Amino acid sequence: MAVLKTSELPRDDNDCGWWQLHQPSGEFSTLTEDLNCDYAVIGAGWTGLAAARRLAEFKPDARIIVLESGQIGNGSAGRNSGFYYDLPFLFPADEFKGREEDGRQEIRLYRSIIGELRDFVSNHNVNCDWSEIGQYHAAVSVEGANELKLIEACLDNLGEDYRTLGPVDFKKALGTDYYRSGIHTPGTVQINPLALIRALANNMPDNVTVYENSPVKRIEGGSRPRLELNSGILIAGEILLTTNTFVRSFIGARSRLVPLITFASITKPVDSGLVPGGESQWGVVPSGLFGSSMRRLSNNRYLVRSTYAYGADYWGSKRLKARAMERQMLSLRRRFLDAVNFQFDWSWSGLVSFFRGANGWLGEVEPNVYAAVSSGMPLCTLFGQQLAAFVVDAGGDALDFVLRRSHPAGLPPEPILRYTVRAMTSLRQNQEWMEI
Ligand SMILES: Cc1cc2nc3c(=O)[nH]c(=O)nc-3n(C[C@H](O)[C@H](O)[C@H](O)COP(=O)(O)OP(=O)(O)OC[C@H]3O[C@@H](n4cnc5c(N)ncnc54)[C@H](O)[C@@H]3O)c2cc1C
Repeated sequence: MAVLKTSELPRDDNDCGWWQLHQPSGEFSTLTEDLNCDYAVIGAGWTGLAAARRLAEFKPDARIIVLESGQIGNGSAGRNSGFYYDLPFLFPADEFKGREEDGRQEIRLYRSIIGELRDFVSNHNVNCDWSEIGQYHAAVSVEGANELKLIEACLDNLGEDYRTLGPVDFKKALGTDYYRSGIHTPGTVQINPLALIRALANNMPDNVTVYENSPVKRIEGGSRPRLELNSGILIAGEILLTTNTFVRSFIGARSRLVPLITFASITKPVDSGLVPGGESQWGVVPSGLFGSSMRRLSNNRYLVRSTYAYGADYWGSKRLKARAMERQMLSLRRRFLDAVNFQFDWSWSGLVSFFRGANGWLGEVEPNVYAAVSSGMPLCTLFGQQLAAFVVDAGGDALDFVLRRSHPAGLPPEPILRYTVRAMTSLRQNQEWMEI
């Protein structure tokens, strides 16, 4: 009988600005008794909650239990920058040539998820700053402009709309002329991720129960797997492992994921007289992966995300965080010179999983134990929904799509992986220094 034991549990702090800005709503119990259920979902982020919701639709009479190690939204689900994108996160070098339908299907799937979320937000009156303002993709350097050309070529090939911008347009839109070139794509929704993920957990179908502060420490496989928690045992028909980067701590290198940490900060509100102009809310992502993403939030605060580092130990050192904060302050100063005296209210780190040559991993880990792991809110939502379809054997086009994208290339063993990722992140960060 296979036993999956986790050697690491999340230890998220309360430094996240979203957490501090909006006291999270809703109360969830801790599992402290022994229970039986049909399906147990481990991890209540975008993947886990989407899987539980979809399972409940497939199996309205089943008992479904979701177990979250910490507080819902205090993991990456609620500590991200809040770009709910509708286009592929990384644009392929082949510009989707000859496989346009694949690219269009990806976009259709994301837009359908955004449509479901839009209805959810409106039906439940969710106050999550849902803003359908799209996003800017911007470049400062010549290399960045070349990356943008690749994005444009992909969008042209797929027949997608976008608008091109130069420094004067950027000055008007964002209040800075730091960027030399860019485009605006209209479909991204900017959100407060913590508010939305908490609302999703608070409004699950009747046959789903969500527990917080209920870390799973051990999974004993078998015809009815057994989960061990701090003070309770859960026996389930089937297990869905949706702990994202922490999947690695249960199943090791099999997940083929590269754990990365990245950092974000939110400034104090800028006095309205000192705001450097531009639209009242906007979001900009760098043309390459290693620049800074930035948002102007509705309350005149600015959010900056930058810096990737190897996340094998799941959290960065104080030194790394201080360095990321320095870079984030530099990115604000570069864009807005010294016209504004920015000060950070909150700075935090969080985890993302990265895969070589794939969008993620979805499959059966052991009999009756399944896992899905991916990166980014829309993809994680999609992987969660399709994990539910996989488990109940209700496949379709969307599951086929996800399975096609679930074959990550192999990784070198530790410590080679660690050294390689460290060298590559530091090289790319230097190469893309102007985009920071
Ligand atoms: C700073 C930052 C900015 C980002 N910006 C964006 C962005 O703008 N747009 C975007 O789309 N994506 C963004 N991301 C990525 C995105 O947040 C993640 O890819 C996404 O949240 C992953 O969702 P998930 O549900 O798979 O995992 P998670 O959100 O990590 O959820 C997994 C959950 O499992 C729980 N868990 C782990 N182990 C156990 C256990 N043993 N027992 C029970 N529970 C357990 C964790 O506590 C966690 O809550 C960003 C990430 C970071 C860190």
